[in-house]
Amino acid sequence: MERLIGFSPIILSVLLSIIVCILIRKNKKVFLASLIILTLVNIAIALYIFEKPIFSLIGDEKIEVAVKTNFSDPGFNATLHGKDIKEKVLVNSKVDINKIGEYNITYKLEYLLGEKILSRKVLVTDKEKPEIILNGDIDYIMYSNVKYNEPGYSAKDNYDGDITNKVTVAKEEISDKKYKLIYTVNDSSGNQTICERTVTLIEPSKVNPSKNGVIYLTFDDGPSANTTPKILDILKKQNVKATFFILNYSSANEYLVKRIVDEGHSIGIHGYSHNYKEIYTSEKNYLENLDKLQEKIKKTTGVTTNITRFPGGSSNTVSKFNKGIMTRLTKLVEAKGYKYYDWNIESGDSGGAKTKEDVYNNVIKYLSKKKANVVLMHDFSSNNKTINALNDIINYGKNNGYTFEAINDETPTIHHRVNN
Ligand SMILES: [Zn+2]
Repeated sequence: MERLIGFSPIILSVLLSIIVCILIRKNKKVFLASLIILTLVNIAIALYIFEKPIFSLIGDEKIEVAVKTNFSDPGFNATLHGKDIKEKVLVNSKVDINKIGEYNITYKLEYLLGEKILSRKVLVTDKEKPEIILNGDIDYIMYSNVKYNEPGYSAKDNYDGDITNKVTVAKEEISDKKYKLIYTVNDSSGNQTICERTVTLIEPSKVNPSKNGVIYLTFDDGPSANTTPKILDILKKQNVKATFFILNYSSANEYLVKRIVDEGHSIGIHGYSHNYKEIYTSEKNYLENLDKLQEKIKKTTGVTTNITRFPGGSSNTVSKFNKGIMTRLTKLVEAKGYKYYDWNIESGDSGGAKTKEDVYNNVIKYLSKKKANVVLMHDFSSNNKTINALNDIINYGKNNGYTFEAINDETPTIHHRVNN
């Protein structure tokens, strides 16, 4: 029907032409001129009516877009007789930008003499790689006799969400003291992420026969203004090096920490706090207690230390309110690269020993040439019995063929049995 209406002006003009021809056929010149004009008019009308619309896509026929982004259809051009006819186009789009897939958009234009359909393919794809987050150190150091304790990992993807359960872990030997753990994860579109952790094994030096007969004097819980300087003076006079497992200190005692380092003694971390209820509440609390003092020591002296002693020792039972914490911490501090030292000779100066003679006897009674002798003493405030016994202990050691050393990398790590 529309076509018929479209053709009607032509039919009308042809009929009109014929009538004009009949009317003026006697005058040949007028007839010819009229015929030409009418023919031209007919051609012009025909061209106008048969003109097809300009209808084309803007942009490519095939478009790829990333999932969960913004997608806007680049659209199309539609004009007829120089006029915009976009509003006549029916667009059918089923693109779901949140779902990977292949979608079609169709554009349908109906006009006088027919219809025209354009289409566009939209590929919604995921090309973004998932992410793997490794907990703990990327350069993991542990003793070779300790079982590796994976610090954990997680993986997430922009499309799949949590894909931690898709992570695979492979082991690649680098040497007999080093290996790599390779964590790989693929998302559902095949995008892959790989990351690595290096595990370095170090040898525990629990037994070092060359250190048999060495006395390692260790002083815990300092520094204190009245005890530590006196102990340092005695050690200096005797030319003996010792080890101080210190606690947090005031700025007034900073010079003592400097003196310990400057005079060649070893400094170890006992803890920023000695409060069992605080530090053994969690692994996190314990490590913060360790790190906090490490940072302070570094600020004061410029050195960092890799030796530590647990408040109460690794065998303590005061931490039992947190079941198994010492079992976990002893592994954890070693995995962090620390060596922890307990003791195998107890001076008793924080408890049983009442006099300087008690302290002296407790120490010399257990000295042995068949082991490294790690002696526990304290330089907390007013510990006069230790100050007064120290000179005699050192003299006894020297006179009986013992040597004295500060704890160093060759010192056997004396460990108690863990009780919690
Ligand atoms: Zn202590």
